Amino acid sequence: MEKTVIVGGSHAAIGLAARLRTLDPEAEITIISSDPEIPYHRPPLSKAYMSGKSTLDQILLRPESWFEDNRIILKRGEFAAAIDRRGKTVSLSGGEAISYDHLVLATGARPRRLPEEIGGHLPNVYTMRDLADANLLMKEMKEGRRLVVIGGGYIGLEAASEARKKGVEVTVLEAAERILRRVAAAQTADDIRALHQAHGVTIIENVKISRITQDDGLANGVAVEGGEVIPADFILTGIGVFPDTALAANAGLLVDNGIVVDEYLRTEDPAIFAAGDCAAFPYKDNRIRLESVQNANDQGALVAANIAGQNLAYRPVPWFWSDQYDLKLQIAGLNTGYDAVLTRAGPREGAHSHFYFRGDELLAADCLNDAATYMLTRKILESGKNLTKAQVANPDFVLKSALT
Ligand code: NAP
Repeated sequence: MEKTVIVGGSHAAIGLAARLRTLDPEAEITIISSDPEIPYHRPPLSKAYMSGKSTLDQILLRPESWFEDNRIILKRGEFAAAIDRRGKTVSLSGGEAISYDHLVLATGARPRRLPEEIGGHLPNVYTMRDLADANLLMKEMKEGRRLVVIGGGYIGLEAASEARKKGVEVTVLEAAERILRRVAAAQTADDIRALHQAHGVTIIENVKISRITQDDGLANGVAVEGGEVIPADFILTGIGVFPDTALAANAGLLVDNGIVVDEYLRTEDPAIFAAGDCAAFPYKDNRIRLESVQNANDQGALVAANIAGQNLAYRPVPWFWSDQYDLKLQIAGLNTGYDAVLTRAGPREGAHSHFYFRGDELLAADCLNDAATYMLTRKILESGKNLTKAQVANPDFVLKSALT
């Protein structure tokens, strides 16, 4: 009976355990999760859970009974402190050592924080990554209170949308020249900025934070370069994440913006894999990390297959989504390296999509309330077909015909 130990208790870990159980009914599977809760879906934290529409029970990845029914040992609230690669054991901070034949690092990513010197440590300056964060933030979300969001990425913008629904006054401060610069084109950012502004959010771009102002140990505003102070009752920082690589690095594994793995998601130690936000894997001519649920689920399932003796390479067509107000943004593909963006109206009123190209190669599309175009684009990318710029620009061209 082979022993698999998974460090991490989120999407990649649970997807892996579930798949491995179906592939190998005998495997001994242990999950070590520092989170004290039963593993839960993360996307609803900044959406339905925070707005009170879903309870914790409704967002669990699997019910508690599933772990027992499937003989998956879940050690929650436990930290994996060190890996002994020669002895093939993982030691927990409490002193217990667990042996493995296969070890999977699904340690995820941690939110960046503003430095303590400028007030990043104050108790009402929040991040949004886990259930504890969402619970703290929910208590602050009351009508008429003032929220300053630092960082105009998906975390900040989704939280801004939920806050507005609760009548919170919201200002978003973005250091770059525009929101969503890391992940989306100016066209998508323009749409989303306009949406937030229409819902009463103040968005200030190209602004540098000097410090968080405080009164009696609590943040009460954000001072920006030039001297203005934007008053706040509470603050959310959504300024990106860094991969949690400490355990891997301390075990002598190669780390370079993530735990370095090959296309089979193996580290240079054949007994150790990495999956999810923490894994830096080969993609086209680069090595990248993806911070998404699709990536965590698919990498988890693929590692399970490889542990079970298959030899599958990870070649994804990534996809993402974000819900803000009544906008459903769906993204097919990865836009890295784009040199042109074309916009096309979708089949439904108000639906449209922004297509990313490098030369005449379609890379990705951001689809705004345009599920039909999203599904087609994903299929086109998955089947290795292409859409040219001329085809996208031609409103009479039927996208579906690219699949034939
Ligand atoms: P993110 O996508 O990296 O966005 C952070 C934003 O904050 C960037 O635009 C960044 O600008 C800006 N920023 C950084 N430092 C700043 C500062 N000191 N002052 C003001 N702005 C600053 O990260 P995130 O929004 O925190 O999200 C964390 C992770 O969760 C990401 O991987 C995200 O994709 C993922 N997530 C995904 C979804 C989804 O797919 N629906 C939803 C929530 C979260 P620069 O580009 O100039 O650094």
